[in-house]
Amino acid sequence: MQKRVVILGAGESGTGAAILAKAQQQDVFVSDFSSILPQYKKALDLRGIPWEEGTHTEALILNADEVVKSPGIPDKAPIIQQLISKKVPIISEIEFAGRYTSSKMICITGSNGKTTTTSLLYHILREAGLDVGLAGNIGKSLAWQVAEEPHGIYVIELSSFQLDNMYDFRAHIAILLNITPDHLDRYDNCMQNYIHSKFRIIQNQTPEDAFIFWNDDPIIMQEVHKLKPQATLYPFAQKRANGVKGYIDNKQILLETTNGTFTMEQDLLALTGTHNLYNSLASGIAAKVLDIQDEKIRASLSDFIGVEHRLEKVVRVRGVDYINDSKATNVNSCWYALESISTKIVLILGGTDKGNDYTEIEESVKNKVRALIFLGKDNSKLHAFFDGKMDQIEDAHSMEEAVNKAYKLAQKGDTVLLSPCCASFDLFKNYEDRGDQFKMYARNL
Ligand code: ADP
Repeated sequence: MQKRVVILGAGESGTGAAILAKAQQQDVFVSDFSSILPQYKKALDLRGIPWEEGTHTEALILNADEVVKSPGIPDKAPIIQQLISKKVPIISEIEFAGRYTSSKMICITGSNGKTTTTSLLYHILREAGLDVGLAGNIGKSLAWQVAEEPHGIYVIELSSFQLDNMYDFRAHIAILLNITPDHLDRYDNCMQNYIHSKFRIIQNQTPEDAFIFWNDDPIIMQEVHKLKPQATLYPFAQKRANGVKGYIDNKQILLETTNGTFTMEQDLLALTGTHNLYNSLASGIAAKVLDIQDEKIRASLSDFIGVEHRLEKVVRVRGVDYINDSKATNVNSCWYALESISTKIVLILGGTDKGNDYTEIEESVKNKVRALIFLGKDNSKLHAFFDGKMDQIEDAHSMEEAVNKAYKLAQKGDTVLLSPCCASFDLFKNYEDRGDQFKMYARNL
């Protein structure tokens, strides 16, 4: 009998999963509780896939043999609760796609740096001439590519929400960049639940596979000792240490792999800042494990143009630099941004708080920040934390107001940094919209 697969959520991943299910001759139905973007409706219609929007019709969903759930839908959504109580298996799009391909999977996760590292590694592999696809949170969904434009190798950015519903999927190379508190609202405010989710990236790995991870992350190290991963381990760190395979020594990058040792001058790296050094080490190790020629890895690590909205230099106005780090949606990424800037800073932060603890940036703010501008609908939590600790604090309720206030507060030689620590949905469509508005108003000063 034909298997009934119900896809919940018709964004990039859901639409891709539906297309793949249809290509596998399964009985597919797509249901999205909000509205579906026109391009996805068109893609579904073209392939004769039935869908609904604005509702979940239980009679058409609860009879599923299996459900592919969009990572955006939380487990506490009523329809998911009903499916769980009926014991209908719920999987993620990546898990689903993984069943229908034997291509090599390189998976990248972490609280911060996923998109940068995924894009950098994709750049290295593509420039080296490999048949590679970019998937996960960026690019076209994995399922869609597997169905209609397959590649021999995929570089996949995985969020914890995608990992949550992965069971049999196997990553040939897994990269875990770091683990700091994020999205705890979706994990019952329990850090260990979030950690477990991230570590799903190594489930099913065998000794032929590689696990690349940050050696100086106490949470990762604790978990590695507990779990004793099967894969070949490639820890990376800023300095050489026992067992570390990727590090800096005497301003040289060294990557020790079973395919030999790679070396490169650190100064030649395209991406700057300590956090990006880690991203380059992780990408370099993965490329070397795949046996890419050293000169090709070197060339790509040194000519990579960064990713928009991540510490992106925008403009210099009257001796003040404007930097767009709109993608910094948690406190840890803001900390790295503050650390990577050597001048005094006017910091614009705020938005939708995901259970933030600002203690992590308190010292850096006190040492480096001239003025804080809180940009959000509700700035009360920021005020509760920073009031009395800083002399200059202003509120803004639009990007235009924030940039104008920053312009007035900044002194020659300063940097105005948008690194919000928060999600953007209170005042903006998404973080791209927030970053684009920042760039526009800064360029118009
Ligand atoms: P993600 O996809 O995990 O959200 P991005 O590459 O989009 O990560 O970067 C998000 C934010 O985190 C940016 O502000 C960026 O400057 C910062 N960042 C990038 N790499 C790291 C890292 N390895 N550790 C901490 N912060 C990082």
